[in-house]
Amino acid sequence: MDEFVGLNPREVVQRVSSSLGCSPTSAQVAAYFDKHDKLRHLRDQFLVPKIADLPPSDVSLVDGTKECIYLVGNSLGLQPKMAQKYLEEELEKWAKMGVHGHTLGSRPWAWAEDNIEGLMANVVGAKSEEVALMNGLTVNLHLLMLAFYKPTAARHKILLENKAFPSDHYAVESQIRLRGFDPQQSMLLLSPRPGEETLRTEDILEVIEKEGDSIAVVMFSGVQYYTGQLFNMTAITEAGQRKGCYVGFDCAHAAGNVELKLHDWGVDFACWCSYKYINSGAGGLAGAFIHKKHKHTIKPALTGWWGHDLKTRFQMSNELELQPGVKGFRLSNQPILLVCPLQASLEVFNMTSMQALRRKSLLLTGYLEYLIQHYYSEDPTRPQKPHVHIMTPSDPQQRGCQLSLSFSIPIRRVFQELERRGVACDMREPSVLRIAPVPLYNSFSDVHRFIETLGAALAAGSQ
Ligand SMILES: *Cc1c(COP(=O)(O)O)cnc(C)c1O
Repeated sequence: MDEFVGLNPREVVQRVSSSLGCSPTSAQVAAYFDKHDKLRHLRDQFLVPKIADLPPSDVSLVDGTKECIYLVGNSLGLQPKMAQKYLEEELEKWAKMGVHGHTLGSRPWAWAEDNIEGLMANVVGAKSEEVALMNGLTVNLHLLMLAFYKPTAARHKILLENKAFPSDHYAVESQIRLRGFDPQQSMLLLSPRPGEETLRTEDILEVIEKEGDSIAVVMFSGVQYYTGQLFNMTAITEAGQRKGCYVGFDCAHAAGNVELKLHDWGVDFACWCSYKYINSGAGGLAGAFIHKKHKHTIKPALTGWWGHDLKTRFQMSNELELQPGVKGFRLSNQPILLVCPLQASLEVFNMTSMQALRRKSLLLTGYLEYLIQHYYSEDPTRPQKPHVHIMTPSDPQQRGCQLSLSFSIPIRRVFQELERRGVACDMREPSVLRIAPVPLYNSFSDVHRFIETLGAALAAGSQ
């Protein structure tokens, strides 16, 4: 589909439908896109649940033997097929050789995570030495903040979004208290303008410019979990650093979703989880990034034996040979049972590139947007007809794959009707659905089936 690069999705849909001689809303368009999708084979690397196996499904309404319409990879990614095999290998190794598994086999437990950090670094645009795989996301956020947030009387604030993910909000709040400051004074929360739903880059940069001298750390998300807004990380990083702030990003909704260049952008630090777009399974091993420019200057506040140089780690000298950079932040030996599914997923990512995934994603999400606008734009002549407003920015450069839809009617019934028909997506009361067509395994037909099912669900839900 390279001939479409640079065209907007609306134009692409119209061109394809006129060459096929069908309506732009026809399922033939989706089938055409799927047929020409060079990444289509990657879906085969994942286990897509069948409709009948999803608990809310009603197989009297839809064919239960079909694959479900899985649009919730922003919450929990699908299971890579190799995950089970890798887990079984390690369980068998444990059963057969016990403690010897630490140093033997293709995945020696004592340094198993070292083998996949390079794969993860490719996904987030980092050098291998800048990435550590450890702990959970919130734990890593705390460990990084302990090293980067050193408030003084003059510079004590942390800048973040007003509606940041709760865990990030609590983490920042508690870090401020831990240093003896008051969140009321030190937490600088940025809200959209009145009547708007997403933040304007110019407003973010203006606050940094105005308040920067009192800001110790700018701590934004890469992609906002609720609105789906992709922030301009380059501009935010530059602006913050020009004012002498450290700039960190929570990339939970950005990693594996959009192209990141954490190294090239000069981001100071970042963290992310691996169970959303990176498909490592609930509670999977999380990531942490510290730019290599800080390799010898930023030190971990808390240390453990896994931060000790591997060559001498097991000599037990009690004289810490701290690994430089983020590797020195590791505390405990890593759980091999979490390394296995993460490896399985990262290998799939490394069969392609984030650049290629993003190219598909722009069309996939653009196609979803096109169909929603076609069917559910507000129609002044039919005020009773439910309509859908897309909260996520319409500029593709300001979003990832997710669209956050807000409905003119309460959404609970409609959501239930979607679930009964085999759609897995996310609802936030009273009226928002978050829909994430993931380029790694979702198809254009998934998007088309979703739109058809939404029509049926709205009809059933408003009876
Ligand atoms: C998913 C998510 C979390 C979850 O934190 P865990 O420590 O993995 O439980 C935190 N912050 C953001 C921004 C998220 O999207």
